[in-house]
Amino acid sequence: MPSLMIRLYGIVQGVGFRPFVSRAADSLGVLGTVANKGSYVEVFAQGGKDVLERFVHILKNDTPERAVVISADVREIEDTDFADFQIIESEKETGDIFVSPDIATCDKCRQELFDKNDRRYLHPFINCTQCGPRLTILEAMPYDRERTTMHEFPMCEKCEYEYTHAHTRRYDAQPVCCNDCGPQVYIVGQDIKGAEAITLARKSIMDGRIIAVKGIGGFHLCCDAKNEAAVNRLRKLKTRPQKPFAVMMKDMDTVRRECGVLEGQEQFLTGYQKPILLLEKKAGTLAPSISPDNPTVGVMLPYAPLQMLLFDYPDGVEMSDCLVMTSGNVSGAPICRNDEDAQKEIGSYCDMILSHDRKILIRADDSVMDWFDGKPYMIRRSRGFAPLPVMVSRKANLQTLAIGGELKNTFCIGKNELLYLSSYVGDMADIRTVQALRESVQRMQELLEVTPEICVCDMHPKYNTVAVAEEMGLPLEKLQHHYVHILSCMAENDIDEKVIGLSFDGTGYGTDGTIWGGEILLCDTHSFGRAGSIQPFKQVGGDASSKEGWRIAVQLVRDGFGEDAQSVCEKLGLCDEKTFKLQSVMADKNINTVLSTSAGRLFDAVSAILGIRSASTFEGESSMCLEFAAEAFEKQNRGYKTDYSGALYDGRTLATTELVRSLTERYLAGEDKGQLAYDFHAVLAQMAAEFCKKLSEETGIKTAALSGGVFQNKLLLRLTKQLLEASGFRVLIHELVPANDGGIALGQAYYALCNCDNEN
Ligand code: ZN
Ligand code: ZN
Ligand code: FE
Repeated sequence: MPSLMIRLYGIVQGVGFRPFVSRAADSLGVLGTVANKGSYVEVFAQGGKDVLERFVHILKNDTPERAVVISADVREIEDTDFADFQIIESEKETGDIFVSPDIATCDKCRQELFDKNDRRYLHPFINCTQCGPRLTILEAMPYDRERTTMHEFPMCEKCEYEYTHAHTRRYDAQPVCCNDCGPQVYIVGQDIKGAEAITLARKSIMDGRIIAVKGIGGFHLCCDAKNEAAVNRLRKLKTRPQKPFAVMMKDMDTVRRECGVLEGQEQFLTGYQKPILLLEKKAGTLAPSISPDNPTVGVMLPYAPLQMLLFDYPDGVEMSDCLVMTSGNVSGAPICRNDEDAQKEIGSYCDMILSHDRKILIRADDSVMDWFDGKPYMIRRSRGFAPLPVMVSRKANLQTLAIGGELKNTFCIGKNELLYLSSYVGDMADIRTVQALRESVQRMQELLEVTPEICVCDMHPKYNTVAVAEEMGLPLEKLQHHYVHILSCMAENDIDEKVIGLSFDGTGYGTDGTIWGGEILLCDTHSFGRAGSIQPFKQVGGDASSKEGWRIAVQLVRDGFGEDAQSVCEKLGLCDEKTFKLQSVMADKNINTVLSTSAGRLFDAVSAILGIRSASTFEGESSMCLEFAAEAFEKQNRGYKTDYSGALYDGRTLATTELVRSLTERYLAGEDKGQLAYDFHAVLAQMAAEFCKKLSEETGIKTAALSGGVFQNKLLLRLTKQLLEASGFRVLIHELVPANDGGIALGQAYYALCNCDNEN
């Protein structure tokens, strides 16, 4: 009988692929084997010619929901003699590896979880071939139980049966377990386990307490999201006065009651990745301090069985359907993943810790997603998405470690044309995060079986990420931050051509030693030129000025108003006379002062001038509130058009200082700050678009790429994109890779792929 060897490449591990192959074979009467080879699944199939054809078609096209077959290699082989169809134990082979992200609990498991007659009734770790933890419990590839942290829990007879029989939903499900053999939940430091522990946690939440809960990729801090006192207490304990908290809601009905849900959003909320999605807040029942002064709230649905049980448990406790679920970490430090860290670091933020004994090997924060133009617009790419690779068309033979940016760090491992962007690591100002970066890099290299030949990092002389990169002892490529933002956008869009890059960002180290961040760059995958920027201003006060927009505002007012600056600053309430003089002396003598073209700081300054926020309590707060004011104005004034008569650019710089001056005058003349906030966005977009048009005429480039943290601002993004498209540009934006520094590592890795492969 004819026989085939079929190799399937892609996301074929940890998604029920082998059972799927086995079932397909059984249904057609195909004989043979299927094996997990680490980088691919290998099938030997024996059967009639027509049957084999159908079999191959099914393998390529009717794959399980979470599987992706990227390529298939089908070869005829010499006749074999199989008696049945079997799944054979995994062997280790090298090659391109696809590690599945963690998958939210599926509907069938959810049903069983609440089915009194099911043997996994209320089992906090229920999972199946289609769902459950993956990356976070994985020790090594290929993905098999003995290489996950579930190896500590020997299967009971019944689980073993399901695990080894193709007709069950748990055939080959590596984390399979049940109430008899699975992990256990408990309250840390107390002798309270199982049902008792869950009930105590639920009662405590409803009594207004704060608890820490171990999830899939780390701990959450949790309280009743409708209890203002509890939410406020959490704010005080975490020293987090303003930054919004994410809310986990029981189900879609709850979400619809509390939030506006746009078309397409439900699919992402209920999908298997279960990110936090930013939704429009309705006048609902959430405590006001969940997201103060913010028209949106970050919402997710429960994605782990324990979270479902917190909402729903047969213990008579009347439970809230909205729970705060914020990362269990010290601000800036990595999310806690074991009891010791949780006790030490977040023990003082909560009243008790609900934990369990399944180990988390790799941290995974919740992913955070905004929404733009009917599509997701990623803010933090982590659980559910990492470490799926970005694949580009450009071929290479190179293994790369891209260490990423200093804020919102992720790193990226490049293996030929596959670029594996890591889970979220965090902000490198905290030494614990730096250590977490080292560990995660090590672990991911092992998991992906990569030995990097080159390391890529930022060019900032003082970054901790650069120090980590230097420790690697590899040839090092240091790249300019804002160029890398554009490379990241190019990589996500799989573009290898010349583009005009609008890199609007917080701050980054420029090639001239000044601070950059509002840049217009001519880029290709090999190099870039700085074609223009916003108008430089003096950034006085070092680090403080990145949180205190009023300091930037004072300098912009000085630049715009000369001798009148002091009285203007006083009228605006930016600072008193003494502070003004001190700021002026420091700027004039260049004490603790740098020249800056940071777009993020420009937004902060305008926010301060318009009396919206003079300083930020979390990164981006001032700019965000400026955006909200502009959007609120736009909503109430449909059809309004900004009319600006000033110059848009002057030589190589956008005329931003003059724009700020004119907005300041109008503000002092009593005009509405919402309108001024809107005009600021509109004119800045116009400036950028006009400048791009001029560049396009000079260079012939008709593609623009928009990246950098400031493009999380959806109003600026929309206005800029519209103007560019109206001028005939093709506009590239991000979608599943963040525009902020969380996407930096991808750009770095893409550069290495395009430039550092000696064979090309
Ligand atoms: Zn399931
Ligand atoms: Zn069991
Ligand atoms: Fe940046």
